[in-house]
Amino acid sequence: MPIQKKGLASGSSYATPYYDFQTRRKGPTVMVVAGIHGNETASIQAAKQLVDRLSSRELVLQKGRLVIVPIVHQTAYRKRIRGVPDLNRTFPRGPGKKAGHPLASALYQLAERLEPSWYLDLHEANGLSQSNSKALGQTLITQPRSRAVPALRNLIRSLNLTIPLKSRHFNLRLHELPGSSRTAAARVLKSRAVTVETCWSLDKVERVRYQVDVVCGLLREAGLLK
Ligand SMILES: [Zn+2]
Repeated sequence: MPIQKKGLASGSSYATPYYDFQTRRKGPTVMVVAGIHGNETASIQAAKQLVDRLSSRELVLQKGRLVIVPIVHQTAYRKRIRGVPDLNRTFPRGPGKKAGHPLASALYQLAERLEPSWYLDLHEANGLSQSNSKALGQTLITQPRSRAVPALRNLIRSLNLTIPLKSRHFNLRLHELPGSSRTAAARVLKSRAVTVETCWSLDKVERVRYQVDVVCGLLREAGLLK
């Protein structure tokens, strides 16, 4: 499987690498991004781990194409901050609308070129959704009426069977967030767009594992992994 390391926002202060895994078999394109917020380090580590496991062929794609951007916001990541302004409020809010930040614009243009069937945005959040209906930790979020819902329900069911502590179970949330990359991908590109949120008060090893398990589960739902 040819793997290509490419550059996003190359030549600017926001330059960051991304990885393009393209199989020879026709299939869906899946885009995975992490580090839109620079302090959500388990999602960044999970994305890097996926790149490593695909590069070493420990994980082998069956068909389609997978593009991973492990650290979108390098300057925020270097300072381990969320980023100012919040990059995840600067994506196009509808068809014909422009991004409000050069980095959001570069990432969005890449997504526009790829037209991904699935768009997965990896994040971290406070709290545990199982005990607090307002908390976003341990959730998968998609748009209301998204075509992703049946696959997300399947994935949450099987994933929760592997998590012995019920308090750490994942829940589905349906939410529209204008300016976020998820909502831009859903509204404009018509992708099945999902935000993955682990709870960042849990151990990092555990959070990274959840993130990897969610992405691999969705790659199976999309038919890219067996
Ligand atoms: Zn975030």
